[in-house]
Amino acid sequence: MSRVFNFSAGPAMLPEEVLQQAREEMLDWHGSGMSVMEMSHRGKEFMSIAEEAEADLRGLLQIPANYKVMFLQGGASSQFAMVPMNLTRDNAKVDYINTGSWSKKAIAEAKRFAEVNLAATTEDAKFTTTPAQSDLKLDPAAAYVHYTPNETIQGVEFPYVPETGGVPLVADFSSTILSRPIDVNKYGIIYAGAQKNIGPAGLTLAIVREDLIGNAVDNTPVMFQYTTHSDNGSMYNTPPTYGWYLAGLVFKWLQEKGGLSGMAAINQRKADALYNTIDNSDFYANPVSTESRSWMNVPFTLADASLDGKFIEEASAAGLKTLKGHRSVGGMRASIYNAMPEAGVKALIDFMVEFERVNG
Ligand SMILES: *Cc1c(COP(=O)(O)O)cnc(C)c1O
Repeated sequence: MSRVFNFSAGPAMLPEEVLQQAREEMLDWHGSGMSVMEMSHRGKEFMSIAEEAEADLRGLLQIPANYKVMFLQGGASSQFAMVPMNLTRDNAKVDYINTGSWSKKAIAEAKRFAEVNLAATTEDAKFTTTPAQSDLKLDPAAAYVHYTPNETIQGVEFPYVPETGGVPLVADFSSTILSRPIDVNKYGIIYAGAQKNIGPAGLTLAIVREDLIGNAVDNTPVMFQYTTHSDNGSMYNTPPTYGWYLAGLVFKWLQEKGGLSGMAAINQRKADALYNTIDNSDFYANPVSTESRSWMNVPFTLADASLDGKFIEEASAAGLKTLKGHRSVGGMRASIYNAMPEAGVKALIDFMVEFERVNG
Protein backbone atom coordinates (compact mmCIF):
# COMPACT_ATOMS: atom_id res chain seq x y z
CA MET A 1 0.00 0.00 0.00
CA SER A 2 1.23 3.48 -0.73
CA ARG A 3 -0.76 6.54 0.24
CA VAL A 4 -0.28 9.86 -1.49
CA PHE A 5 -0.44 13.36 -0.07
CA ASN A 6 -3.75 14.61 -1.40
CA PHE A 7 -4.07 18.40 -1.48
CA SER A 8 -7.67 18.31 -2.69
CA ALA A 9 -9.97 21.09 -1.48
CA GLY A 10 -12.70 18.53 -0.83
CA PRO A 11 -13.45 15.75 -0.42
CA ALA A 12 -10.09 15.88 1.28
CA MET A 13 -7.69 13.62 3.16
CA LEU A 14 -8.85 11.88 6.31
CA PRO A 15 -6.41 10.95 9.09
CA GLU A 16 -4.83 7.60 8.30
CA GLU A 17 -5.40 6.41 11.88
CA VAL A 18 -9.11 7.05 11.42
CA LEU A 19 -9.26 5.11 8.16
CA GLN A 20 -7.41 2.21 9.77
CA GLN A 21 -9.75 2.11 12.72
CA ALA A 22 -12.74 2.22 10.37
CA ARG A 23 -11.22 -0.69 8.46
CA GLU A 24 -10.71 -2.71 11.64
CA GLU A 25 -14.28 -2.06 12.70
CA MET A 26 -15.79 -2.46 9.25
CA LEU A 27 -17.22 -5.98 9.43
CA ASP A 28 -17.95 -6.17 13.13
CA TRP A 29 -18.32 -2.98 15.11
CA HIS A 30 -17.51 -3.66 18.79
CA GLY A 31 -18.88 -7.19 18.74
CA SER A 32 -22.21 -6.21 17.22
CA GLY A 33 -21.61 -8.53 14.26
CA MET A 34 -22.43 -5.67 11.88
CA SER A 35 -20.77 -2.77 10.20
CA VAL A 36 -21.95 0.69 11.24
CA MET A 37 -23.47 1.06 7.78
CA GLU A 38 -25.85 -1.83 8.48
CA MET A 39 -27.13 -0.67 11.86
CA SER A 40 -30.49 0.82 12.62
CA HIS A 41 -30.00 4.48 13.40
CA ARG A 42 -32.38 3.98 16.32
CA GLY A 43 -30.64 0.93 17.76
CA LYS A 44 -28.59 1.19 20.94
CA GLU A 45 -25.27 0.65 19.14
CA PHE A 46 -25.70 3.54 16.74
CA MET A 47 -27.28 5.73 19.42
CA SER A 48 -24.12 5.33 21.47
CA ILE A 49 -21.95 6.24 18.47
CA ALA A 50 -24.11 9.29 17.74
CA GLU A 51 -24.19 10.54 21.32
CA GLU A 52 -20.48 10.10 21.83
CA ALA A 53 -19.67 11.96 18.61
CA GLU A 54 -21.85 14.88 19.63
CA ALA A 55 -20.39 14.97 23.14
CA ASP A 56 -16.85 14.93 21.74
CA LEU A 57 -17.64 17.72 19.27
CA ARG A 58 -19.18 19.76 22.07
CA GLY A 59 -16.03 19.29 24.09
CA LEU A 60 -13.69 20.20 21.23
CA LEU A 61 -15.54 23.38 20.29
CA GLN A 62 -16.72 24.16 23.83
CA ILE A 63 -20.28 24.41 22.53
CA PRO A 64 -22.52 26.01 25.18
CA ALA A 65 -25.64 24.17 26.37
CA ASN A 66 -27.98 26.62 24.61
CA TYR A 67 -26.81 25.46 21.19
CA LYS A 68 -28.17 22.44 19.33
CA VAL A 69 -25.85 20.32 17.20
CA MET A 70 -27.46 18.83 14.09
CA PHE A 71 -26.05 16.09 11.87
CA LEU A 72 -27.69 16.78 8.52
CA GLN A 73 -27.46 16.04 4.82
CA GLY A 74 -27.58 18.34 1.81
CA GLY A 75 -24.17 19.94 2.20
CA ALA A 76 -23.34 23.52 3.05
CA SER A 77 -25.18 24.41 -0.14
CA SER A 78 -28.49 23.41 1.48
CA GLN A 79 -27.67 25.64 4.42
CA PHE A 80 -27.51 28.55 1.97
CA ALA A 81 -31.30 28.08 1.73
CA MET A 82 -32.05 26.76 5.21
CA VAL A 83 -30.57 29.81 6.90
CA PRO A 84 -32.88 32.39 5.29
CA MET A 85 -35.86 30.01 5.39
CA ASN A 86 -35.44 29.58 9.13
CA LEU A 87 -34.53 33.11 10.17
CA THR A 88 -36.67 35.50 8.12
CA ARG A 89 -40.25 34.80 9.18
CA ASP A 90 -40.62 38.10 11.00
CA ASN A 91 -37.94 40.12 9.25
CA ALA A 92 -36.73 39.62 5.67
CA LYS A 93 -33.79 42.02 5.85
CA VAL A 94 -30.46 40.23 5.99
CA ASP A 95 -26.81 41.30 5.78
CA TYR A 96 -24.25 39.37 3.76
CA ILE A 97 -20.50 39.89 3.48
CA ASN A 98 -19.10 38.91 0.10
CA THR A 99 -15.51 37.66 0.18
CA GLY A 100 -15.42 35.06 -2.58
CA SER A 101 -17.06 32.29 -4.55
CA TRP A 102 -18.88 30.63 -1.65
CA SER A 103 -20.18 33.93 -0.28
CA LYS A 104 -21.57 34.68 -3.73
CA LYS A 105 -23.44 31.40 -3.85
CA ALA A 106 -24.85 31.96 -0.38
CA ILE A 107 -25.97 35.45 -1.41
CA ALA A 108 -27.59 34.27 -4.63
CA GLU A 109 -29.60 31.70 -2.69
CA ALA A 110 -30.59 34.13 0.07
CA LYS A 111 -31.97 36.54 -2.54
CA ARG A 112 -34.64 33.96 -3.34
CA PHE A 113 -36.01 34.32 0.20
CA ALA A 114 -34.88 37.62 1.66
CA GLU A 115 -33.85 41.23 1.04
CA VAL A 116 -30.07 41.02 0.95
CA ASN A 117 -27.99 44.02 1.99
CA LEU A 118 -24.39 43.65 0.85
CA ALA A 119 -22.64 44.76 4.03
CA ALA A 120 -19.24 44.59 2.33
CA THR A 121 -17.66 43.09 -0.74
CA THR A 122 -14.06 42.56 -1.73
CA GLU A 123 -14.90 41.70 -5.32
CA ASP A 124 -13.18 44.85 -6.63
CA ALA A 125 -9.98 43.59 -4.99
CA LYS A 126 -10.50 40.26 -6.79
CA PHE A 127 -11.25 38.63 -3.42
CA THR A 128 -7.66 38.84 -2.24
CA THR A 129 -8.48 40.32 1.14
CA THR A 130 -11.14 40.59 3.85
CA PRO A 131 -13.01 43.79 4.76
CA ALA A 132 -12.08 45.54 7.99
CA GLN A 133 -14.68 45.68 10.73
CA SER A 134 -14.95 49.45 10.09
CA ASP A 135 -15.84 48.76 6.43
CA LEU A 136 -18.90 46.65 7.30
CA LYS A 137 -22.11 48.54 6.55
CA LEU A 138 -24.29 46.53 8.88
CA ASP A 139 -28.00 47.12 9.29
CA PRO A 140 -28.83 47.00 13.01
CA ALA A 141 -32.35 45.84 12.04
CA ALA A 142 -31.15 42.85 9.99
CA ALA A 143 -32.40 39.38 10.90
CA TYR A 144 -28.82 38.11 10.73
CA VAL A 145 -25.35 38.72 9.29
CA HIS A 146 -23.87 35.97 7.10
CA TYR A 147 -20.20 35.58 6.29
CA THR A 148 -17.70 32.98 5.12
CA PRO A 149 -14.80 32.77 7.61
CA ASN A 150 -12.65 30.94 5.05
CA GLU A 151 -13.10 31.19 1.30
CA THR A 152 -11.93 27.81 0.06
CA ILE A 153 -11.36 28.86 -3.55
CA GLN A 154 -9.65 32.22 -3.04
CA GLY A 155 -7.72 31.15 0.08
CA VAL A 156 -8.91 34.13 2.10
CA GLU A 157 -9.64 33.81 5.81
CA PHE A 158 -11.04 36.40 8.20
CA PRO A 159 -8.45 37.34 10.84
CA TYR A 160 -11.26 38.41 13.19
CA VAL A 161 -14.88 37.61 14.02
CA PRO A 162 -17.23 40.36 12.79
CA GLU A 163 -18.86 42.31 15.59
CA THR A 164 -22.57 42.62 14.81
CA GLY A 165 -23.97 44.42 17.82
CA GLY A 166 -26.37 41.70 18.85
CA VAL A 167 -27.57 40.68 15.37
CA PRO A 168 -27.11 36.90 15.04
CA LEU A 169 -23.93 36.02 13.15
CA VAL A 170 -24.21 33.09 10.72
CA ALA A 171 -21.00 31.52 9.45
CA ASP A 172 -20.22 29.03 6.70
CA PHE A 173 -17.33 27.26 8.39
CA SER A 174 -17.08 24.45 5.81
CA SER A 175 -13.36 24.76 5.15
CA THR A 176 -11.98 25.93 8.48
CA ILE A 177 -14.10 24.37 11.23
CA LEU A 178 -12.00 22.55 13.85
CA SER A 179 -8.76 24.06 12.55
CA ARG A 180 -8.37 26.10 15.77
CA PRO A 181 -10.42 27.11 18.81
CA ILE A 182 -13.32 29.50 18.24
CA ASP A 183 -15.76 31.19 20.60
CA VAL A 184 -19.10 29.64 19.67
CA ASN A 185 -20.89 32.25 21.79
CA LYS A 186 -20.14 34.83 19.12
CA TYR A 187 -22.28 32.97 16.59
CA GLY A 188 -25.95 32.36 16.03
CA ILE A 189 -25.36 29.57 13.53
CA ILE A 190 -22.24 27.71 12.45
CA TYR A 191 -22.56 25.26 9.58
CA ALA A 192 -20.14 23.16 7.59
CA GLY A 193 -20.12 20.42 5.00
CA ALA A 194 -18.06 17.57 6.43
CA GLN A 195 -15.85 16.71 3.47
CA LYS A 196 -13.11 19.23 4.19
CA ASN A 197 -12.27 19.09 7.86
CA ILE A 198 -14.73 16.73 9.54
CA GLY A 199 -15.31 13.47 7.69
CA PRO A 200 -16.70 12.08 4.46
CA ALA A 201 -19.01 13.90 2.07
CA GLY A 202 -22.71 13.46 2.79
CA LEU A 203 -22.71 14.81 6.34
CA THR A 204 -23.37 18.45 7.17
CA LEU A 205 -23.02 19.95 10.63
CA ALA A 206 -25.18 22.78 11.90
CA ILE A 207 -24.66 24.30 15.34
CA VAL A 208 -27.65 26.52 16.03
CA ARG A 209 -28.44 28.73 19.01
CA GLU A 210 -31.76 27.64 20.48
CA ASP A 211 -33.56 30.97 20.14
CA LEU A 212 -33.04 30.79 16.36
CA ILE A 213 -34.92 27.51 16.08
CA GLY A 214 -38.67 27.42 15.51
CA ASN A 215 -39.11 30.54 13.40
CA ALA A 216 -39.18 29.10 9.88
CA VAL A 217 -41.18 30.93 7.25
CA ASP A 218 -44.56 29.40 6.35
CA ASN A 219 -44.44 26.47 3.96
CA THR A 220 -40.82 25.66 4.68
CA PRO A 221 -40.51 21.95 3.90
CA VAL A 222 -40.31 19.82 7.02
CA MET A 223 -36.80 18.64 6.14
CA PHE A 224 -35.64 22.26 5.83
CA GLN A 225 -36.81 23.34 9.28
CA TYR A 226 -34.22 23.33 12.04
CA THR A 227 -37.02 22.43 14.47
CA THR A 228 -37.51 19.09 12.75
CA HIS A 229 -33.91 18.05 13.30
CA SER A 230 -33.54 19.71 16.68
CA ASP A 231 -36.67 18.05 18.12
CA ASN A 232 -35.63 14.64 16.86
CA GLY A 233 -31.93 14.52 17.66
CA SER A 234 -31.15 14.63 13.91
CA MET A 235 -33.17 11.40 13.53
CA TYR A 236 -36.43 12.64 12.04
CA ASN A 237 -35.42 10.60 9.04
CA THR A 238 -32.40 8.38 8.50
CA PRO A 239 -29.29 10.45 9.15
CA PRO A 240 -25.98 9.88 7.32
CA THR A 241 -24.97 7.23 9.82
CA TYR A 242 -21.60 6.21 8.47
CA GLY A 243 -20.47 9.79 8.04
CA TRP A 244 -21.59 10.55 11.58
CA TYR A 245 -19.56 7.59 12.85
CA LEU A 246 -16.45 8.61 10.89
CA ALA A 247 -16.79 12.18 12.11
CA GLY A 248 -16.83 10.75 15.63
CA LEU A 249 -13.55 8.94 14.95
CA VAL A 250 -12.08 12.21 13.64
CA PHE A 251 -13.19 13.97 16.85
CA LYS A 252 -11.34 11.33 18.92
CA TRP A 253 -8.29 11.81 16.71
CA LEU A 254 -8.44 15.56 17.34
CA GLN A 255 -8.58 14.94 21.08
CA GLU A 256 -5.39 12.91 20.77
CA LYS A 257 -3.76 15.79 18.88
CA GLY A 258 -4.33 18.03 21.88
CA GLY A 259 -7.75 19.28 20.89
CA LEU A 260 -8.18 22.40 18.82
CA SER A 261 -5.34 24.33 20.42
CA GLY A 262 -3.02 21.42 19.66
CA MET A 263 -4.35 21.33 16.11
CA ALA A 264 -3.97 25.09 15.76
CA ALA A 265 -0.26 24.91 16.58
CA ILE A 266 0.25 22.24 13.92
CA ASN A 267 -1.83 24.14 11.35
CA GLN A 268 0.05 27.36 12.03
CA ARG A 269 3.38 25.60 11.45
CA LYS A 270 2.16 24.07 8.19
CA ALA A 271 0.76 27.33 6.83
CA ASP A 272 3.78 29.40 7.90
CA ALA A 273 6.19 26.97 6.26
CA LEU A 274 4.29 27.00 2.97
CA TYR A 275 3.72 30.77 2.82
CA ASN A 276 7.39 31.36 3.72
CA THR A 277 8.45 29.18 0.82
CA ILE A 278 6.22 31.16 -1.51
CA ASP A 279 7.28 34.56 -0.16
CA ASN A 280 10.98 33.76 -0.19
CA SER A 281 10.93 33.12 -3.92
CA ASP A 282 10.28 35.19 -7.05
CA PHE A 283 9.21 32.00 -8.76
CA TYR A 284 6.05 31.51 -6.66
CA ALA A 285 3.44 34.04 -5.59
CA ASN A 286 0.30 34.20 -3.48
CA PRO A 287 -1.99 37.18 -4.15
CA VAL A 288 -3.74 37.33 -0.76
CA SER A 289 -3.01 40.15 1.69
CA THR A 290 -0.85 38.75 4.46
CA GLU A 291 -3.29 39.17 7.34
CA SER A 292 -6.14 37.47 5.41
CA ARG A 293 -4.28 34.40 4.23
CA SER A 294 -6.03 31.11 4.80
CA TRP A 295 -4.50 28.45 7.01
CA MET A 296 -6.36 25.77 5.11
CA ASN A 297 -6.29 26.64 1.38
CA VAL A 298 -3.12 28.08 -0.09
CA PRO A 299 -3.41 29.21 -3.71
CA PHE A 300 -0.19 30.04 -5.51
CA THR A 301 0.93 30.88 -9.02
CA LEU A 302 4.13 30.37 -10.94
CA ALA A 303 5.85 33.45 -12.40
CA ASP A 304 5.76 31.57 -15.71
CA ALA A 305 2.25 30.13 -16.04
CA SER A 306 3.33 28.02 -19.01
CA LEU A 307 5.06 25.78 -16.44
CA ASP A 308 1.79 25.05 -14.58
CA GLY A 309 1.14 21.81 -16.43
CA LYS A 310 4.66 20.56 -15.83
CA PHE A 311 4.43 21.44 -12.14
CA ILE A 312 1.16 19.55 -11.72
CA GLU A 313 2.40 16.54 -13.64
CA GLU A 314 5.72 16.22 -11.82
CA ALA A 315 4.14 16.86 -8.44
CA SER A 316 1.62 14.14 -9.13
CA ALA A 317 4.40 11.72 -10.11
CA ALA A 318 6.02 12.54 -6.76
CA GLY A 319 2.85 11.57 -4.88
CA LEU A 320 1.63 15.15 -4.38
CA LYS A 321 -1.91 15.05 -5.76
CA THR A 322 -4.70 17.44 -6.68
CA LEU A 323 -2.68 20.65 -6.66
CA LYS A 324 -4.40 22.24 -9.64
CA GLY A 325 -5.97 25.55 -8.71
CA HIS A 326 -9.68 26.21 -9.08
CA ARG A 327 -10.53 27.10 -12.68
CA SER A 328 -11.72 30.56 -11.57
CA VAL A 329 -8.37 31.42 -9.98
CA GLY A 330 -5.85 29.38 -11.99
CA GLY A 331 -2.39 28.31 -10.85
CA MET A 332 -2.12 25.90 -7.96
CA ARG A 333 -3.93 25.39 -4.68
CA ALA A 334 -2.69 23.33 -1.77
CA SER A 335 -5.43 22.51 0.71
CA ILE A 336 -3.77 21.64 3.99
CA TYR A 337 -6.63 20.72 6.29
CA ASN A 338 -6.18 19.07 9.67
CA ALA A 339 -5.60 15.63 8.18
CA MET A 340 -2.70 16.78 5.97
CA PRO A 341 0.35 15.70 7.94
CA GLU A 342 3.26 18.07 8.42
CA ALA A 343 5.30 15.58 6.40
CA GLY A 344 2.98 16.27 3.45
CA VAL A 345 3.60 20.00 3.59
CA LYS A 346 7.33 19.33 3.94
CA ALA A 347 7.26 17.07 0.87
CA LEU A 348 5.45 19.78 -1.09
CA ILE A 349 7.95 22.43 -0.04
CA ASP A 350 10.91 20.20 -0.96
CA PHE A 351 9.30 19.59 -4.33
CA MET A 352 8.69 23.33 -4.89
CA VAL A 353 12.27 24.24 -4.04
CA GLU A 354 13.64 21.59 -6.38
CA PHE A 355 11.19 22.53 -9.16
CA GLU A 356 12.32 26.14 -8.92
CA ARG A 357 16.00 25.11 -8.95
CA VAL A 358 15.52 23.16 -12.16
CA ASN A 359 13.06 25.48 -13.94
CA GLY A 360 13.63 28.89 -12.35
C1 LIG B 1 -17.13 23.25 -0.13
C2 LIG B 1 -17.83 24.47 0.39
C3 LIG B 1 -19.21 24.66 0.25
C4 LIG B 1 -20.08 23.65 -0.47
O1 LIG B 1 -20.26 22.55 0.31
P1 LIG B 1 -21.23 21.35 -0.13
O2 LIG B 1 -21.19 20.52 1.09
O3 LIG B 1 -20.63 20.72 -1.34
O4 LIG B 1 -22.56 21.93 -0.41
C5 LIG B 1 -19.77 25.78 0.78
N1 LIG B 1 -19.02 26.69 1.43
C6 LIG B 1 -17.70 26.56 1.58
C7 LIG B 1 -16.92 27.60 2.31
C8 LIG B 1 -17.05 25.44 1.06
O5 LIG B 1 -15.73 25.30 1.21
